[in-house]
Amino acid sequence: MKKAFFMAKSEIDKIRKENRKKTLENKVNVHNAVPEIVRIDEKLAICGVRLVRCVIDENNRKSYEEIKEEIINLQEEKRKVLTSNGFSENFMDEIYACLRCNDSGFKENKPCQCLSKLVAKYRRKFSNVVGQMAKKKFNNFDFSLFDYDSKVKKSVEFAYDTLLNFINISDKFTNIFITGESGTGKTFISLCVANKILENEKDVYYQSAYNMADAIDRVKFDKMGSAKAGEILKFAYTVDYLIIDDLGAEFSNSIIITTLLNIIDYRIMKKRPIIINSNLGLEDIKCRYGLRVASRIAGEFKMLRMLGRDLRLKNKVTIEINEIEFLGES
Ligand SMILES: [Zn+2]
Repeated sequence: MKKAFFMAKSEIDKIRKENRKKTLENKVNVHNAVPEIVRIDEKLAICGVRLVRCVIDENNRKSYEEIKEEIINLQEEKRKVLTSNGFSENFMDEIYACLRCNDSGFKENKPCQCLSKLVAKYRRKFSNVVGQMAKKKFNNFDFSLFDYDSKVKKSVEFAYDTLLNFINISDKFTNIFITGESGTGKTFISLCVANKILENEKDVYYQSAYNMADAIDRVKFDKMGSAKAGEILKFAYTVDYLIIDDLGAEFSNSIIITTLLNIIDYRIMKKRPIIINSNLGLEDIKCRYGLRVASRIAGEFKMLRMLGRDLRLKNKVTIEINEIEFLGES
């Protein structure tokens, strides 16, 4: 998501400017308080100019060494004067939040750790996978919960592996449709996928079908909040991975259905994967969204069917998958 990088870079630029300002303030404060430091800084500036001249003139190597020594002596004198006037010896040094890249965001032409960390922060923010949602991870799966039925356990392990493969095999374009009754863990496993994508430093956008339908409605009819709604749709079209939660829970009309189909078609054309989870099966999809949407899902999505008890009623994290079947092209 270019926006995450742009926001991260802007934040680093802001930090650099603030630190530069603070450095200059420190310099002015010292110069006002200790005139001797002004004199030393002036000498250091002159030495700097002379040193550059020597670098250009290779025959002047002796002077170069002399000036370097002079600079070292002046810096030592400066440290002594600073401390004798109650300042720390590095009080006038440049202030940097990151000493690896001096707040440039890059080191050896590669993004510095500080920039990568900020990109990850904004990537998560824009992904919509925040708060408690960020805690739903594949690592949190407790496979022992499925010991009561070897068939269920095997199926869970298979689903786990299938979805991890989906994320890790980046050169193979795949879409996944997860279907099953309410409370069978579709949202949980979709969030695990979202968090794993973020861990892999890829962009994902997680959005409920309800909010997407609402966004389409606002944009198409220019209702209040259409700017934010437009952003939701922009993410839906452009992000690396799109996850639509609970398709079928939203209100729908022909414009919403057409736009949804348009998003799916556009992403297929661009080879940008989609995961959709829904209580609806293919027949229900056909009834509700029409043949074109149903055929797109049948033809372009791997179908993961999750059957089992309502986990929310059981109040514990278990997923029962009694059957997994793939439809369409793999
Ligand atoms: Zn850095």
